[in-house]
Amino acid sequence: MNRQQGIGMTSMRTRVRLIERLSEQGITDVAVLDLIQSTPRHLFVEEALSHRAYEDRSLPIGFGQTISQPYIVAKMTALLFENGPLEKVLEIGTGSGYQTALLAPLSKQVFTTERIAPLQQRSKALLHTMGIRNVHFALSDGGLGLEQKAPFDGIISTCAPEEIPESLLNQLSPEGGRLVIPVGRQEQMLMLVTRDGDTFTHKAIEPVVFVPLLKGLVS
Ligand code: SAH
Repeated sequence: MNRQQGIGMTSMRTRVRLIERLSEQGITDVAVLDLIQSTPRHLFVEEALSHRAYEDRSLPIGFGQTISQPYIVAKMTALLFENGPLEKVLEIGTGSGYQTALLAPLSKQVFTTERIAPLQQRSKALLHTMGIRNVHFALSDGGLGLEQKAPFDGIISTCAPEEIPESLLNQLSPEGGRLVIPVGRQEQMLMLVTRDGDTFTHKAIEPVVFVPLLKGLVS
């Protein structure tokens, strides 16, 4: 029996419990809740931790990185797609690929950047196995955005810069582009920035804890 078949009833129950918990915490977006319920998070964590995959907590994925807590993944996804599906989305920090797998069904095209090559290879293979075909993987410093593919209708960062990089703002679509990003070092705040022409509106959402956005690639 492989891991996919091994999901079983227990895991189905823990998934349903996770969804109940997220809705109790104020996640009301049904599309997002459905996606979280149908996405096999246990495949995105190390096998030894897969029995904890449907707990509402972040877990290690190697290389000092973590798969984000489901609550915050749900919150950020709901913020990005508040007005419905988007055409072109950029993600900074592929990591395990879990957030990427949630972006794919809600976007026409997803571009995801990662600086640690082995993490990127693993998530690329996993998403391919899951039949997800509208994701393009880049090994690059996501803090620079992805100039050649800009503008983006949505940008989401799963690592925290000290300040919002200018390049991400510039690469937002002038027609309602949305950026969801944690900002800060010791204390971080989740921010939503929306763009209308040359006007950028910043909204503080809630305090969060993310790994830092770092420069330089790891092969
Ligand atoms: N979305 C991921 C979260 C992984 S943690 C998941 O659900 O698993 C954040 C990721 O951001 C890490 O993999 C880290 O290597 C990556 N990261 C940090 N700085 C980066 C940068 N400048 N460019 C691209 N990725 C970066």
